[in-house]
Amino acid sequence: MIAKKTLTLSLKSLRDFGKKRLPDQVVIDLDARDECPLEIVQQMCSPDKLGIQLLFVPEEYGGMGGGAFDVYCICEEMARIDLGVATSVLATFLGSDPITVGATPEQKKIWLTRIAEEGILFAYGATEPNAGSDLAALETTAERVMDGERIAGYKINGSKQWISNGGVADAYTILANTPAGPSWFIVEKGAKGFSHDEPEDKHGIRLSNTAALSLSDVYVDADRLVGGVEGQGLNQAQAVFGYTRLMVAAFGLGAGWAALDRAIPYSTKRIQAGSPLSQKQGYTHKLIVPNVARLEAGRAFIEETAERIDAGEGSLNTEGAIAKYMSTEAGNQAAEASIQALGGYGYTHEYLVEKISRDVRITTIYEGTSEIMEMTISRDRWQLHLKTRGQHYHDLARGCEALHARHPEVGANFAALALHALAEVMEKARVARLTRYQHILLRLGELIAYAECAGSLARRAARMAEGKLNEKASQRFDAPALAAVSRVFAREAALKVGADGLRWVTGAGGVMDAEMAAFEASLGLSTIYRAQAGLIADMDYVADVLYGRSRKQAGQAA
Ligand SMILES: Cc1cc2nc3c(=O)[nH]c(=O)nc-3n(C[C@H](O)[C@H](O)[C@H](O)COP(=O)(O)OP(=O)(O)OC[C@H]3O[C@@H](n4cnc5c(N)ncnc54)[C@H](O)[C@@H]3O)c2cc1C
Repeated sequence: MIAKKTLTLSLKSLRDFGKKRLPDQVVIDLDARDECPLEIVQQMCSPDKLGIQLLFVPEEYGGMGGGAFDVYCICEEMARIDLGVATSVLATFLGSDPITVGATPEQKKIWLTRIAEEGILFAYGATEPNAGSDLAALETTAERVMDGERIAGYKINGSKQWISNGGVADAYTILANTPAGPSWFIVEKGAKGFSHDEPEDKHGIRLSNTAALSLSDVYVDADRLVGGVEGQGLNQAQAVFGYTRLMVAAFGLGAGWAALDRAIPYSTKRIQAGSPLSQKQGYTHKLIVPNVARLEAGRAFIEETAERIDAGEGSLNTEGAIAKYMSTEAGNQAAEASIQALGGYGYTHEYLVEKISRDVRITTIYEGTSEIMEMTISRDRWQLHLKTRGQHYHDLARGCEALHARHPEVGANFAALALHALAEVMEKARVARLTRYQHILLRLGELIAYAECAGSLARRAARMAEGKLNEKASQRFDAPALAAVSRVFAREAALKVGADGLRWVTGAGGVMDAEMAAFEASLGLSTIYRAQAGLIADMDYVADVLYGRSRKQAGQAA
């Protein structure tokens, strides 16, 4: 972990660098030319210039040893500048992750020191034409090259698809099948038989270089096998998922806020029907406020997970999946709504929200698609439901009720409604064996993410009220405003879990007509609907805070 002062300075340097080197017009031109600004990426990673990668490299190898919380803060800020450039920087972290978690001390010393001292760029080569979400379908092979009884090296054959930095990296970590299973290898640019295609012509993140790789009898010495033991590749990839998914979660958050931070000021200046759009409730409460609430729910979960990773609780893959799922879906919705918020101007390149919308689209695809996140979340939490005989989410709900007793303003009571309803939906799904339907399993993943994030945001609002928020945490909202944001989101989460839960259980034939009333009652649906009372007033309040208005003006907004 790095000191708050150092992080603040790094964030400031990053912002200043972005303003100077990547102002709006430069970004628009690069996007139009579909060009990766390699020199800028190199400067961001150069120890003599911005040196952003130093944050991620452990201290013993010349870095600053930033923790998960630091990484989240930096990734959010990078995404606000440009998600393509951010992806290029991310690729070095991803590419070096198998080394950080699995390499021998000698390998770490060589490669991590080179990243810190020389600023070399890495690429992470896992995906293949026939192995995307299902990496086990990997076809690239690494065949042993023997020197008598000793393994002297490996010959790698195969191809990789959609590799960020694929055409510009100095070194690559490549996942390939050895006789003992998938393993990571370090391959350097220029190795004989190693080539890359032209950059892909992509929908978004056009400032990042994405290219296919081809490996034809590429020879590497045995010391390029990460960790020196074959068959560890998938474990090494798994070991950092919690951490790497948090980075992409922060991308969703940063990009979503970058879009809203353009829509909000725009709407104060745009006059329609005699007044600014910002004063029209039908505008703010559809296009701005709900997106703020979802993004901040994602942030709460990212911060909680980052703190737990930094406290040594392990890689927290499922929590990383929840954080990624919520923040990247919220980022996409926020960017999409921002196009609408700018009307025709939003649809043009000049105002950048359409670019942000194209860019943030990738965050629900790479580092595990949203559907794979839903599956990961659901499978893991299903086990908890079974192990606790259905009490896991009732217990979390009781925790929220206790929080409500101490902090009645943070929406923990609504989060508790979501969590109780979730426990009932899962129990009904268990009794009726509904997880045999994949769609039900994945929808449960979505409901779990909403309910858990509602709890997390209520806890964050309470900590804010107590002045106990992480000193590095975002302070965009004060305690009363964050409490209102939390109440808005928790009501949405409760309604989503209750109504969608009923829908999917009923849709899969999990509840007979005669049982319907009892099931509805167990979900607390009428309480959930009653809990929507006060929603518009809370949304008015959040809108007033976002627009810097006094509270009195809220009633006049319509
Ligand atoms: C711009 C860009 C940069 C990238 N950078 C890198 C990189 O640096 N390194 C790297 O290794 N990879 C990279 N990727 C690859 C990325 O991680 C994969 O695209 C992603 O994992 C999905 O794999 P796929 O594209 O093969 O899609 P598929 O796995 O074929 O999925 C297609 C659709 O089917 C759904 N689906 C898949 N399996 C299931 C299932 N079992 N049940 C239900 N639905 C399912 C998915 O959610 C998705 O909606 C990048 C991709 C892009 C586009």
